[in-house]
Amino acid sequence: MKHLSLKSPSLKEKLLEHSIRPTAQRLAIADFVLQKGRHSTAEMVQEHLKKFFPHISLATIYNTLNLFSKKGLLKEYRFPHSGHVFFDNNTQPHAHFLDENSQEIYDVPMEKVNISLKNDSFEIQDVEVLFKGTLTNKGGQSG
Ligand SMILES: [Zn+2]
Repeated sequence: MKHLSLKSPSLKEKLLEHSIRPTAQRLAIADFVLQKGRHSTAEMVQEHLKKFFPHISLATIYNTLNLFSKKGLLKEYRFPHSGHVFFDNNTQPHAHFLDENSQEIYDVPMEKVNISLKNDSFEIQDVEVLFKGTLTNKGGQSG
């Protein structure tokens, strides 16, 4: 088995701080979803981990990702372009932009978004905003 460099003690501490026992598999998953990927699916995690843990099952990965979500390290999203659940390591409120050419998902800070719901009958707990379109070449987007 190849060696996985998990020298970063902060990742282990981060799991411990969230009452997650830092097993080797969980650290490897955390390394990917918290540090490498932004909007990761279980399938992406499995693909990334297969050289380190060739027999890790999707169920194990899902259990770990769900645990991370429950502990507040990730937030789950579903996007219309894919049947997969995406696990986002940006747990702050933000909107998303889906580039319909590349199917790439970008984070959009809420201060760049201006929408409101003018209806007193609803008490809002959470907002999920998805913009769809294509990238311009004006630059300045944050991925
Ligand atoms: Zn996001």
